Amino acid sequence: MEDGKKQLQEIVDECNNLVFFGGAGVSTESGIPDFRSVDGLYHMKYDYPPETILSHTFFKRHPEEFYRFYRDKMLILDAKPNAAHYKLAELEEKGKLKAIVTQNIDGLHQKAGSKHVLELHGSIHRNYCMRCAKFYDAEYMLKSREPVPRCTCGGVIKPDVVLYEEGLDTATIDASIRAIREAEVLIIGGTSLAVYPAAGLIDYFNGKYLVVINKSPTPRDRQADLLISEPIGEVLGGLHV
Ligand SMILES: [Zn+2]
Repeated sequence: MEDGKKQLQEIVDECNNLVFFGGAGVSTESGIPDFRSVDGLYHMKYDYPPETILSHTFFKRHPEEFYRFYRDKMLILDAKPNAAHYKLAELEEKGKLKAIVTQNIDGLHQKAGSKHVLELHGSIHRNYCMRCAKFYDAEYMLKSREPVPRCTCGGVIKPDVVLYEEGLDTATIDASIRAIREAEVLIIGGTSLAVYPAAGLIDYFNGKYLVVINKSPTPRDRQADLLISEPIGEVLGGLHV
């Protein structure tokens, strides 16, 4: 075992209040693309950048174009959890991991068996009618043949996903702050910590070890007690619980 992974193993062995804070990099190993990364395909298929399409204003003005992108790039239901998801679920089951705070909306942590998952940016698995608040699952959204999925009441269905210009759910933020503040170890993984306010939650950590696992540099690297620049699935997957 290399030094970084060995140190991580020691930290996991020693501590019993771990919190994981993750982002897109956790799911790219499951084949879910990070829409923020540069992808030439987007420019060929869409007239707007993803950040524009995934905004509240755009959803209101061009719901058909929003849903064309959303169904194609976000509504990925056949993805499977990877080694990182499974190891985190195992750590929770063993009583070591207290919470997962994620910026991902794909539901893969729950699919892997994790129970306490705080989804800062919502989930593709929850969708609500904007008129009567009726719930629809992701399968319904995928199967719907209409350009814009509609409720039986005629209202437009909106994914429970935080779009640009929209605020984060207060209860989810509060629970995330509480978990991070009480954590003994905070493992940040698969995120470049570029998206606020999510990235700002790290400031509440006051525990023993800050671990950063990311292939590219993050603004928190210098604060980290342990920095591992390797694929997250490989690093977490190799842990013995
Ligand atoms: Zn309705």
